[in-house]
Amino acid sequence: MRVAAFLPELLRHLFKKPATVDYPFKKLEVPANFRGTPYLRPELCIVCRACERDCPAEAIEIMAVNEAEKRFRMVIHNDRCIHCAQCVDSCPTTPKAMQIDSLYELAADDRHKLKKDWVYVRAVMKPKPAAPAKEPAPES
Ligand code: SF4
Ligand code: SF4
Repeated sequence: MRVAAFLPELLRHLFKKPATVDYPFKKLEVPANFRGTPYLRPELCIVCRACERDCPAEAIEIMAVNEAEKRFRMVIHNDRCIHCAQCVDSCPTTPKAMQIDSLYELAADDRHKLKKDWVYVRAVMKPKPAAPAKEPAPES
């Protein structure tokens, strides 16, 4: 085998930065639009159930706790979640009641520990401000 053939390649890599990081001692910066774990901002949720309907993994459950008090419970089953962020896209509120973080260290020794839940009172969607009335066009 001709070792000399490998020398240029070897030398080139000797002076290059490593392609990997020393995980878990060093962490990688995730990209700005990284899809981590979904979570709810309950004070914004109008319980339209769009997130529950559109989740392809059936990872979101919404149930009434007390209809009269408009109190609901949402559970996100992170052991089922495939981190697609469809729930965030489907959420109609501004700002979005459904958000996604950039965490990626989610391992647990029991899948039930990955479950997150919130009990909250349904928010009221603020009506959009009415468009200003148009002035009649001047008669010619
Ligand atoms: S990120 Fe995707 S899979 Fe996870 S809860 Fe949202 S819609 Fe479901
Ligand atoms: S989180 Fe958003 S999409 Fe889901 S029920 Fe609440 S308002 Fe609707």
